[in-house]
Amino acid sequence: MAIQDIYPTALRLLGRPVLVVGGGPVAARRAKGLLDAGASVTVVAPLACPALTGLSDAGHLAWEPRQYRGSDVDGAWFVQTATGDAAVDAQVAADAEAQRIWCVNASDHEASAAWTPAVAVVDDVRIAVNAGGDPRRAMALRDAVATALETGDLPLRRRRARPDATAGSVALVGGGPGDAGLITVRGRRLLGQADVVVADRLGPRELLNELAPDVRVIEVGKTPGHHPIPQSGINRILVDEALLGHRVVRLKGGDPYVLGRGGEEAEYCRQHGVDVEVVPGVTSAISVPAAAGIPVTHRGLAKGFSVVTGHEELSEVPARADHTVILLMGVGQLRHSAASLALAGLPAETPVGIVENGYLPNQRVTIGTLGTIADQAEAASVANPAVIVIGDVVRVSPFAPSHFKTADYSTTSPNAPRTPLTPSIAP
Ligand code: SAH
Repeated sequence: MAIQDIYPTALRLLGRPVLVVGGGPVAARRAKGLLDAGASVTVVAPLACPALTGLSDAGHLAWEPRQYRGSDVDGAWFVQTATGDAAVDAQVAADAEAQRIWCVNASDHEASAAWTPAVAVVDDVRIAVNAGGDPRRAMALRDAVATALETGDLPLRRRRARPDATAGSVALVGGGPGDAGLITVRGRRLLGQADVVVADRLGPRELLNELAPDVRVIEVGKTPGHHPIPQSGINRILVDEALLGHRVVRLKGGDPYVLGRGGEEAEYCRQHGVDVEVVPGVTSAISVPAAAGIPVTHRGLAKGFSVVTGHEELSEVPARADHTVILLMGVGQLRHSAASLALAGLPAETPVGIVENGYLPNQRVTIGTLGTIADQAEAASVANPAVIVIGDVVRVSPFAPSHFKTADYSTTSPNAPRTPLTPSIAP
């Protein structure tokens, strides 16, 4: 039978009686699929596998524990036979045919009146693939299409309003530090479904170019000290757009809940009866140091870290070189922050790394010490967005000057005495 001889269609079996003949795993899988579609399933088989008896015990289907009889097909809208016995399957198929009932015959693909495609469901889309009578090929194709839909590589976005189009929603999506590859699969998929994207200055801006032309992008980007749209205005945009029935993605840099005011946005949405989903992201606090080869913890160097903003009270964080301090939005206050940390007891030689525009083409790394970094940053006109890392972990960076690497820290015991630093190490 040639593939052009089939007529793809979708059966709506809700509440309709269907018959499954056979008690093995294939019959069980088909029975499950039919139940998922809401059909009223009767299984005829002398013996049934645990999957089927389970469904029967739970009252989801009726199992007749006996041999097949010709009258079993009476009244069925659809028949699946998978007895493992070609002669019985052929008999079931012939009985169905005589009554003009569509029947899938599992033991004779060629003769079968209907075929079961390989199926996947992504969101409210169902993919069904028939591939020239080769089920494995059909499954491989189905998986490829499903994966592309899951990841947002294929356009899953609705083009036609659904009947319940009033039900808009908001997703707060953490976009990661800026590279398009560092968003989560879930975030990418929601972006692919969005009607409206509310975007920040930071985050994977490149992905905005891939949106369909009719997706509206609302720019609400903030820079420190300059907020073109105040937070209350952003909150209102999210709710207003969702209440119009749109799927709104609030695409944020890094993680929505790390110094990103995602909590306020989620709360505001909920207060206004708008469905909100929060998709975590790769925070710049941890990833941007990594872009400069700096692990925020490292055996023998640092067991923990604190993430604060430069404007924050720094006297609270542990002032030890083995506790990494990470400053976000910290460039403007760097001199002040370095002085606070020195006052809290951190030695002036404590290494400091600044990573501007992490993961972006204009990434730049500046490395110095607590005593030198403010002058260095000023001289180099270091600017936000930048992550500032303070602590011994900075020594691990390939950008660190060689005299920073005074020991093989990967094997240093945390309790061993510290390798003394060369005094005066301004690079
Ligand atoms: N929610 C975000 C942080 C928002 S605060 C997150 O989890 O990453 C904004 C600050 O994040 C910037 O001032 C800067 O300190 C930092 N930042 C974000 N992206 C950055 C990048 N690509 N390079 C350097 N710093 C970045």
